[in-house]
Amino acid sequence: MPDHVIDTQYKPLSKSARDQIRRIVGPDHCSDSSEDLVLYAYDAMNRRFPPEMVAHPENARQVSAIVKLANREMFPVIPRGGGTGFTGGSLAVEGGVVLTTSRMNRIVEVDPDNMSAWVEPGVINGDLQKAVLEKDLFFPPDPSSMDFSTIGGNVAENAGGPRAVKYGVTRDYVMALEVVMPDGRIVRTGSEAIKSVTGYDLTRLLVGSEGTLGFITKILVRLLPRPEAVVTLLTAFPDVSTASRAVARIMASRIIPSTLEFMDRSAIDCVKGSISEELSKGASALLLVEVDGDELGAGRQAERLTEVCKRSGALYVKRAQTPEEREGLWKVRRSLSPAIMKIRPLKINEDVSVPRMKIPELIIGIEEIARQHDVMVVNFGHAGDGNVHVNILVDPDDKDERKRAEEAVKDLFQLTVDLGGSLTGEHGIGIAKAPYLGMEIDDNLIHVMRTIKRALDPNNVMNPSKTFDYRGNSG
Ligand SMILES: Cc1cc2nc3c(=O)[nH]c(=O)nc-3n(C[C@H](O)[C@H](O)[C@H](O)COP(=O)(O)OP(=O)(O)OC[C@H]3O[C@@H](n4cnc5c(N)ncnc54)[C@H](O)[C@@H]3O)c2cc1C
Repeated sequence: MPDHVIDTQYKPLSKSARDQIRRIVGPDHCSDSSEDLVLYAYDAMNRRFPPEMVAHPENARQVSAIVKLANREMFPVIPRGGGTGFTGGSLAVEGGVVLTTSRMNRIVEVDPDNMSAWVEPGVINGDLQKAVLEKDLFFPPDPSSMDFSTIGGNVAENAGGPRAVKYGVTRDYVMALEVVMPDGRIVRTGSEAIKSVTGYDLTRLLVGSEGTLGFITKILVRLLPRPEAVVTLLTAFPDVSTASRAVARIMASRIIPSTLEFMDRSAIDCVKGSISEELSKGASALLLVEVDGDELGAGRQAERLTEVCKRSGALYVKRAQTPEEREGLWKVRRSLSPAIMKIRPLKINEDVSVPRMKIPELIIGIEEIARQHDVMVVNFGHAGDGNVHVNILVDPDDKDERKRAEEAVKDLFQLTVDLGGSLTGEHGIGIAKAPYLGMEIDDNLIHVMRTIKRALDPNNVMNPSKTFDYRGNSG
């Protein structure tokens, strides 16, 4: 067994434990029927690990009672939000009980004066966005899954989205948390005050901890004033290097776009049906750029960015004049994922991240890897923050192609690390990337992480086998 694996012996869920869980959450809010368990055996990663039981607690007290029981009876507890994760984070890899946040889905309070909101973890991101917009406020984190992923899942994965280039990621909007710790203790981290440096910053430790250090039961999010205006531009370039140069010049112009999305030639080919001949002709890279601010300011920024793109070698810059046109430009980007699935039913979606000026080297390197391993790759992503979604398309029934794809993933990670980048910009490690963790961080740092995990969760009951102690169980 590799040195970094914490070897815990779990016990199958006993009848008495099942009965106690039924009493804690109520018999209508849990199940161990195989029909129900299969619903919680998957996330977006496409591996299958059915839990032994699923329960839907209503509050921190119920979560705490189940976590205490887990420590006594030695079974894993797996937090689950929308189940949209790409890395297997919500899967019951070691068996145990999946605890969902489906009944903890209230926006408790929106406080316009303090520009903050207390929410329960099961609130869908898009619902929070809409609720705060009604009060002229704005919650920037916008993962593409925002219509079906939860704020709890976003916090646990430190999710990001197109707006991260200007506004940052989920971490930057979490002020305080209520958490059930792995021993069942309920704690409140952070503060309602904007400034607080009392004690260790456990809020920041818990954000992005993938449910391994505690179950989040309430979140205080920071809000911003709603931007008055948004201007959307679509601009095309003859090659990736020219597009990257434009990205550098956009950032150097001291205008930070609220979105700076990138698609390479292979991605443009995938969405040919959604994009006019005029827009795709001669283009080997597209940038979707948005600026926001007050009416006048956003307009001026858009004019300056148009100039910058043209001077950097853009083939054209198309500016949306109406909400319908804006929607049309976004359709090009949004239709990518479904279009890719039509080419091959399985896509291995890696979200590597490099310093943004290294994007051309990354794309050239990926093309070489695709050639070497004879796999089809489509690249798109967030050019503004160097986070590229590398989609390796695979026929799941073709064993040889799957093996070649796995080799390509390994080479992709090595390339990324060599370019000073990170294995994952937003999807997390989960089980999908756990075997590669040592490629990016050294043994000393893994040791520190394990020490934190062991100190907080000596029985290793909270979402085991995720991040850095995956045993490679099949599923
Ligand atoms: C089509 C699609 C597009 C996507 N686009 C993006 C994107 O643009 N950006 C991005 O960052 N991600 C994206 N994702 C990935 C995914 O949506 C995010 O990781 C999201 O944050 C997961 O939220 P969820 O509610 O589905 O969490 P789940 O998948 O249920 O869980 C994810 C992790 O969080 C833990 N967790 C969930 N709730 C809690 C809680 N209350 N307390 C503690 N731990 C908890 C789980 O144990 C698991 O480890 C996308 C996924 C899909 C399918």
